[in-house]
Amino acid sequence: MQQYQLLIGGEWTDPESGQWFETLNPYTGQPWARIPRGGPGDVERAVQAAERAMRTGDWARMTATQRGHALRRLGDVVARHAERLATIEVRDNGKLFAEMGNQCRYLTEWFHYYGGLADKVQGTVPPIDKPGVLNFTRQEPIGVTACITPWNSPLLLMAWKVAPALAAGNAVVIKPSEFTSASTLEFAALAAEAGLPPGVINVVTGYGSEVGEPLVAHPLVRKVAFTGGESGGRHVNVAAAADFKHVTLELGGKSANIVFEDARLDDALSGAISGIFAASGQTCIAGSRLLVQDSIHDEFLDRLVKLAATARLGDPMSPDTQIGPITTEPQYCKVVDYIEIAKKEGARCVMGGGAAEPPPGAGGRFVKPTIFADVTPDMRIAREEVFGPVLCVMRFKDDEEAIRIANGTNYGLAAGVWTESLRRAVEMSNRLVAGTVWVNTYRSTSYTTPFGGYKASGLGRENGIDAIREYLQTKSVWFYT
Ligand code: NAD
Repeated sequence: MQQYQLLIGGEWTDPESGQWFETLNPYTGQPWARIPRGGPGDVERAVQAAERAMRTGDWARMTATQRGHALRRLGDVVARHAERLATIEVRDNGKLFAEMGNQCRYLTEWFHYYGGLADKVQGTVPPIDKPGVLNFTRQEPIGVTACITPWNSPLLLMAWKVAPALAAGNAVVIKPSEFTSASTLEFAALAAEAGLPPGVINVVTGYGSEVGEPLVAHPLVRKVAFTGGESGGRHVNVAAAADFKHVTLELGGKSANIVFEDARLDDALSGAISGIFAASGQTCIAGSRLLVQDSIHDEFLDRLVKLAATARLGDPMSPDTQIGPITTEPQYCKVVDYIEIAKKEGARCVMGGGAAEPPPGAGGRFVKPTIFADVTPDMRIAREEVFGPVLCVMRFKDDEEAIRIANGTNYGLAAGVWTESLRRAVEMSNRLVAGTVWVNTYRSTSYTTPFGGYKASGLGRENGIDAIREYLQTKSVWFYT
């Protein structure tokens, strides 16, 4: 079985604990690699290495243009290894290879895009109303950046943080999820191949309490970029606030996908299906609440169930598979529990409704694609994030009611609107309290477009030009001549 090490200061090193834990293949249910159990001592070494790299090392001496070249080279190396990275991520996280292959090729763009931005960061020269005085501003890196990622999209969500953080001149310590660390370690190995100086990218694997917490608490860490659940996000936010650190938080969602009677229903159907069942519903942007207008509700639900029933569960490496396993055992238990809660609350289960038999030869955990109808906004299943292939269908009368239901949760990550009316599309997208609104589509994201949540879905934005500012701070310099 493959045994990984930590990457600290450009060296592959064993954890100080001398312990490893096994990572499972969610499809087979079998362990396939051993991941180092990092701890506070490893965090200390990694943070010191990152601090040296960005203050006194080669990284600190590079011009912004040279940093940009290095990031673009990293993008090229990632492109060359895209297939291998995708295979490792599928083995570790159970996502479909069909999706991961595309995602890993797309990953390259983050490094190219932010590599291109590195030497476009510039300050200003504010006018000062005193003669002989010059004032200018510089945009400087914030400091060692902790990049903490979840298990559902380890590489992509890592790239969303690492690419802008490095473009801004910071060095990073990445803490991937304890459930899916392998692809991040493999990615980090590419940093040397791309010629990044040692210490610019460090990876400490392990548990949230043993690695994540000391990392967030470390005084030299000045920025924390976190993607994960609401509870982890709250801990990180409070801990970071105690030492006035900058944070970006990408948290959970309970996104509404709203289908109006004037929508192109075929498109809306496929948007509803991919919105909830892609990655077995284990995406933050899952369209887990489907709001359907009264007049088309019954027909739409009928067609939805028929279409969802054709989804094939299976081996995520097979191109025929449409629904893969649930990534982790705790997540599987959570999804199955929520299905039971929904039944007890009186939601009508029209499809699925529990665990699925694993396909022959698989030992992993599967959940049947599940659809609940007659869901009301007060039910827990309509308010809390399940993070699984469980769809709540709710009906609404008119635009006002759709908005009221859609905005009626603590979350505000994303929303979808399906309508042929331009007026309605504009009004809805203005009034939806969500960081992303899709009209007549669902799930699109891009390295060029800001992404992030309103309310309990997070703070700050990733992707796009502005995201680099999340990793910069402004210095004002005064000259009296
Ligand atoms: P999680 O919060 O349990 O863990 C995320 C990461 O944080 C892991 O690496 C974990 O070890 C670490 N961690 C946990 N507690 C910590 C602490 N106190 N201090 C520091 N680090 C800590 O989340 P998860 O179960 O891995 O991921 C699923 C969640 O992520 C879902 O809620 C999902 O919606 C969310 N998510 C959000 C986005 C987004 O962009 N908004 C994207 C993907 C996933």
